[in-house]
Amino acid sequence: MISFYNTLSGEVEEFKPRLAGQASLYTCGPTVYDYPHIGNYRAYIFEDLLKRFLLFSDFKVTHVMNITDVDDKTIRGANSLGMPLYEYTKKYTEAFFEDIKTLRILPADYYPRATEHIDDMVRMIKGLLDKGYAYIKDGSVYFSLAKFPDYGKLSKINKDELKAGARVETDEYEKESVYDFVLWKKAKPGEPVWETEFGPGRPGWHIECSAMSTRYLGPNFDIHCGGIDNIFPHHENEIAQSEAFYGQKFVNYWLHCHHLVVDGEKMSKSKGNFYTLRDLLARNIDPVDLRFFLLSTHYRKMLNFTFDNLEQAKASRQRIIDFLYELEHQSLAEASQPESEPLAAAALTNFKESLADDLNISAALAALFELIRGTNSRLAKSQLSRQAANQVLAAIYQMDQVLAVLPEKKEEELTAEIMKKIEQREQARLEKNFALADSIRQELLQQGIMLEDTKEGVRWKKIK
Ligand code: AMP
Ligand code: ZN
Repeated sequence: MISFYNTLSGEVEEFKPRLAGQASLYTCGPTVYDYPHIGNYRAYIFEDLLKRFLLFSDFKVTHVMNITDVDDKTIRGANSLGMPLYEYTKKYTEAFFEDIKTLRILPADYYPRATEHIDDMVRMIKGLLDKGYAYIKDGSVYFSLAKFPDYGKLSKINKDELKAGARVETDEYEKESVYDFVLWKKAKPGEPVWETEFGPGRPGWHIECSAMSTRYLGPNFDIHCGGIDNIFPHHENEIAQSEAFYGQKFVNYWLHCHHLVVDGEKMSKSKGNFYTLRDLLARNIDPVDLRFFLLSTHYRKMLNFTFDNLEQAKASRQRIIDFLYELEHQSLAEASQPESEPLAAAALTNFKESLADDLNISAALAALFELIRGTNSRLAKSQLSRQAANQVLAAIYQMDQVLAVLPEKKEEELTAEIMKKIEQREQARLEKNFALADSIRQELLQQGIMLEDTKEGVRWKKIK
């Protein structure tokens, strides 16, 4: 059973997907007005952990991440440089794609751009006007909170603070401003303009995510993520717009990660207390150490950024790498009898069960380090066979399908290792040790290598 803490219910709930074995996932993407800071990457890496875990648990995941390429911040940025909006956002969109590759974040299936989905937003706003959830005031369109009694169910805001008829124009605002929010902003000099039947203008930020998520995933989907700062007003507004328009529940599970902070304050552009990935690369920080650092604290806990904490994460990751090297290069005896204590299998089960419990990464990593300790102690007592060592290696490489923090094997190393395994398997078959032959095949399979017995001999291919 997999369970997640759902912000909507405020409880850890069993994950029941809409369709068995499938998960539809929407994650709020970058606003491409600048280089993302590593706080943003905490959110994207938490989402990557979630997605990789679902894939690891044999789910088919459809993942959509939007690119916000028109909003208050992007327009302000482009205007300050006198650049066309498209050219300005293109640079930061490309930087984002480069960064996520560097951080080993799996790509989404779709990256819809807001500017390419204006029609979907206009259709929704028109529908909200027709249904009476929205109204026009001075050329802009607003969502009327009074018409949507469920408003506040995600962020649990105090409805008494609702200011009837008061309106907010900006995309971002605090809880003190629980006002009717803007869906469509009337045309202003120096801003991009789209012509619509309710007047010329451009979309507000919140309607962008409602339109793009439902365009790709349908009116109701499984999981929506973001950082906790997205809960109010962004996600609260997404719920209001989508549920009012479609007349059904929008998202089943809302998952939010806590912030990356510096001296107790949220890392953010506006506070100036941020590092971009590029800043850290310039200091020779290995991006995979950063990934490990951001990943290894539970997503619902606040995470404090310091270079010391980053160093500690680097040292822990290095322990795993050193251990693997040792184990791969030790000369160990073949086992004369079956392993009495299947360390690797137990650790893998523990790892999976921990992550299934609301992505309990601390317990999952504890299972990994426990496996390292247990294996080392058997190594020290010369109680480890080559087969048992291989099982440990296979288990750790499997865990790394979720963590993605181990060095990638070079093609030559991989080939040499596979050829050695093939020889061992052939030898086992000659000796009629079919159990061993089969376990070698399985072990390679777990590493994504499939063996095929052909007339010309054994062939191998990568299946990932
Ligand atoms: P933005 O580009 O500001 O819309 O943010 C993109 C994502 O990063 C959103 O999911 C935010 O909630 C998240 N985010 C922003 N700052 C932080 C932070 N300091 N720690 C964790 N997540 C953050
Ligand atoms: Zn969003």
